Formats: sequence, structure tokens, C-alpha cells
Amino acid sequence: MAVIIIERAKIADFFGTFVESGYVVIEGERIARVGAGAAPEIPGASRIEGQGLLLTPALINAHAHLYSTLVRGMPLRGFSPKSFGQILEQLWWKLDRALDLDAVYLSAFVGGLAHLKRGVSVVFDHHASPAAISGSLFQIKRALSEVGLRADLCYEVTDRGGQRERDLGIAENVAFAKEGVVLGRFSAHFGLHASFTLSDETLEKCRTQAEPLGLGFHSHLAEGKEDPLDALQKYGMRTAERLDLFGILRENSILAHGVQLSQAELELLAERKPTVAHNPRSNMNNAVGTAQVEKMVVRGIPVALGTDGFGCDVLGELLAARLLAHHALGDPTAFNDAVAKRILAQNYTLAEKAFSVPFGKVCPGYAADLVLWDYVPPTPLDAGNILSHLLFANISEGLRPLYVLVAGQIRLAEGKVQGVDEAAIAARAKQKALEIWSKL
Ligand SMILES: [Zn+2]
Repeated sequence: MAVIIIERAKIADFFGTFVESGYVVIEGERIARVGAGAAPEIPGASRIEGQGLLLTPALINAHAHLYSTLVRGMPLRGFSPKSFGQILEQLWWKLDRALDLDAVYLSAFVGGLAHLKRGVSVVFDHHASPAAISGSLFQIKRALSEVGLRADLCYEVTDRGGQRERDLGIAENVAFAKEGVVLGRFSAHFGLHASFTLSDETLEKCRTQAEPLGLGFHSHLAEGKEDPLDALQKYGMRTAERLDLFGILRENSILAHGVQLSQAELELLAERKPTVAHNPRSNMNNAVGTAQVEKMVVRGIPVALGTDGFGCDVLGELLAARLLAHHALGDPTAFNDAVAKRILAQNYTLAEKAFSVPFGKVCPGYAADLVLWDYVPPTPLDAGNILSHLLFANISEGLRPLYVLVAGQIRLAEGKVQGVDEAAIAARAKQKALEIWSKL
């Protein structure tokens, strides 16, 4: 079993661990020992010099769309949306239809590299490529394997492309859950787009396929007003109530956004306990409203944090969640450290459920998913203020990892991704982006 020793690092996590200068011994995929002072001598172990670096657990992105990576800088001809539905029609549903399997692979590769370089080791991705459905999740897996990330993948089933595409989407979820999962590396959810693009017949089919495999769902929920309006007009009930009829509000489901929810829906979510993935920057950008995160947390609804494809800066997203809550509620204490830590803890719980190893603490037995940040604190740092240090270092100096370990593997060293020719991948991605943009 490979042994790595990180020595002379400042060590902290969000849940109480703090060592001013100490070591971490990693055996295989887990942390074996943590201590203060000099590291033990272990013959054959690799050593990482941690002096001047801050060691923390790696971050988790609970809701991502890696396929959106190649949209950066794209000219938006005729883009003048007046609603969230029009943003989907005028941008995302055009883009996803232009993707072929090579574009799926390259966008996941570039997006995966970006996540790694922001200290993220696990991505819960939600994928759509309606002109290239079959095999798409396996292309994402191939790309992320080369980057060295862990990921939980799903394909978003929808009726918007007709019955054939719907059935291919269902089949892709099933195929990946059966053949793509690798213990500790790749896990699966059953992907759904959102209630307003899914018929009762389709939801029933999805339930029938997902249940025997024990899969939770990964779906959008009440992101914009389109979702509750559609559910009320067609089915006479609210979105979460409708999804509940098909067993979708399961404890192992991830429901992204949850912006347009009634009090009764919050009660229902509190009872069923699916995870709601909050994506504040995307919500602000799409002008869909403000999720009632603090109410959710108070009611015991598990809330996690995602980026929804709006970059991969999880620490920045957490700060945005705080700013949005304070702004929306007119209360500068609404989103305090306790709320932030509950949300971070839920991200780690999702990873633990997906990969069957505890995440989020620098303690023996925990996943060796670790980041060494290039950060020398200019003010005192301890167990109580680590969150404040990371959030404000991130926005003031642009916090960057020097090393990232994923499942005990060194994937980033001295700021360089290991075993990957980044320039060559960027060149291929740029060529592919040009090709896609010319189709739109
Ligand atoms: Zn999303």
C-alpha cells in the first residue's frame, strides 16, 4: 500500500481539527495518522513538504454541469431572454444539442481540471447531450479518470426531445449505474431534468428503472417559476408534491435549486429529507429568485452547495450564499458560520454516501482527499476561524492549491496537474468549442 507523509503543514478542517504545525500520514486511499510536530519515519513513504502551506479537506461540488464548460466566451446571437424558460431555450438547450461525444469528453476534461485546481475532489454532475446520449456518461468518466477526480454521474431524462431521446436517456442512466460505477471513484444517480419537462408516464418509467437499482434521483426542482406553474396548471399541485407521487423525494436524491417552493413543500421536504443543492450565483444570474436556505436548514432539510456550472469555485459559492441571504433577508447575521458549516457538512455527507468512506475531516479513517493551499495567514488562524480565513483569502488573494490529493493520489503537485498535458487538452477544447459555436 502506497504511503504518503505530508509534513510541517498547518492542518485544519471545518469541524474542529487544528494543528499549528504537524503531519498527516496517508495509507492507500485514507488518512492513517495525524499529529503535531515531527512526522514519523516510515521506510518507503513519499514525503510532501507542507511548510508554509495550509492543509484542509478537499471541497465537493454537489451540483455541476461539466458540459457547459465550452460555453465560455461564446457569442450569444439573438439572446434576449425574458424568463428562465427562455434562457433554457435560447442558450442551454441549443448548446447541449450541439454536443457530440468528443465535446462531452473535452468539456468534462477541461471542467474537471478547473475543479481540481480549485481544490475540488468530488463532482456531482448532471449531464445533457441530446444528440449524443448513449455512451455520454462513459465519456465523462473517461475524462475525469484522466484528471483523477471522483464523480457521481447522471443523464438528465426529459420529454423535450421526444420519446426516442427520453428512452435513450433512461437507458444511459441504467447502463452507467450497472457498468460505470467503480467503488470509491464513480457513483451514479438517476438524472431527471425537471418536473415541467417530464410527463407522468416518463416519471413512472424512471421510477420503475431506478428503484431496483437503489438509485437516488438528481433533478432540478422549482428552479424558476415555470416548474410550479406547469405542475399547478397540468396536475393541480405544486412541484415537490408532484415529484413525491413518483418517489423522487428520496433520502438519497439530490434536488437542485428549490427556489420556488411553498411552505407546505418545505414541510414535505423536511419529512422526506432529500438533499437540496443550493446554487446561489446561478440563481442570481438567471434571476429566478432566492431559495429559503435558512428556513430549510432550521427545518432539518439537508442543504448542500453546488455551482450549477457557474464556475467551480465552491468557496466563492459559499460566500455568495451568505451575501445573497443577507441581502434578501435584510439581516446581516442570517447566514452565519453555523449555517455555512451545516451546508459544507452536507456536501461531505453526499460524498460519503456515494463513495462509502467518510469525508471532510483531517482525521484517521477519513478519505485522503486533501488540499494544501498556498496560504500564509496574515492574521491568527485557529479551529474557530478557518472558514473566515478561507472565504476571505479566496476573494482577496485568489486562494489556490499547490497540492491536491484525491483518494490518496497526488493529482496536483507544485500547482501542476499530474500526468496531463493541459496545453494540448486546452487546444483540442478550443477547436471543439469553435466547431460547436459555428453550429449555433
Ligand atoms: Zn443545474
